[in-house]
Amino acid sequence: MTLTDAELEAFLDEALPADTMRRIEQTLRGDPWLVKRLALVCARRDRGNHSLAGIWRAHRLTCPSREELGSYLLGSLEPAAADFIAFHIQTSGCRACQANLDDLRNQRAEPGPHQHSRRQKYFQSSAGKLPGR
Ligand SMILES: [Zn+2]
Repeated sequence: MTLTDAELEAFLDEALPADTMRRIEQTLRGDPWLVKRLALVCARRDRGNHSLAGIWRAHRLTCPSREELGSYLLGSLEPAAADFIAFHIQTSGCRACQANLDDLRNQRAEPGPHQHSRRQKYFQSSAGKLPGR
C-alpha cells in the first residue's frame, strides 16, 4: 500500500473513510518506516504544537528499537530516522525510550573491551534497516 503525505495527513486528521483508516492502521503495524514517515508528516505540519503528543499516543505509534536508539546515539542513523527518534523522545516525550537512551548512554560511558564490538553491532543492524527507496 503506497501512501502520499496528503493521505497520511488525512489519516492523522481521521478524515478518511473508516475502512481506509483501518487499512492504513494495519499497514502501519507491519511497516515501521511508514510509521516514521507519518511521524515526520505530523512533525512538519504541526511543529511545536502540544497536541502532537496526543496524536502520537492516540495512534500508538511504535517505539524505535534499542538498536536504533544505539545508532541514534552514535549518529549513524540516516537523517529521517534520527529526526523521528528526536521527535519521538523530545516532542512526544516517550519515557520508555528516554530511559532506554539514558541506559545506552551510560553503557557507552563505561570503558570496556566490548565497546568496539557493540559499536560494530549497532552499525550493522542499522545498516540492514536502511530503506532502499
Ligand atoms: Zn518510545
